[in-house]
Amino acid sequence: MSEFCCALCSFSSRYDYFGRKPPFVESIVLMEKAYVLKNPFTPHDSHLTIGAHCSQCDKAVCVQQTCSVFYTRRFCKHCVEKHSEEFPQEISEVISKG
Ligand SMILES: [Zn+2]
Ligand SMILES: [Zn+2]
Repeated sequence: MSEFCCALCSFSSRYDYFGRKPPFVESIVLMEKAYVLKNPFTPHDSHLTIGAHCSQCDKAVCVQQTCSVFYTRRFCKHCVEKHSEEFPQEISEVISKG
């Protein structure tokens, strides 16, 4: 069994697939390589993205706004803070609240 573990918070979960084309969802290509869980509750759009890797430091982070944002690429909270001047204000504000 595969297990995803967020490097920033204590969130961890098993996952069904890592990559951009989950085999259990038809005709979808994700914007990033992500940890994907089959969603048993909605069989037609049956995936949940639970995490991905930061494009800067490569840490595995969950998709909660307190840990990461997707702004053309995935950035973890630390990298957003480090490069906050390169992000639109609303992005750095969202993440700094966490
Ligand atoms: Zn997290
Ligand atoms: Zn990072």
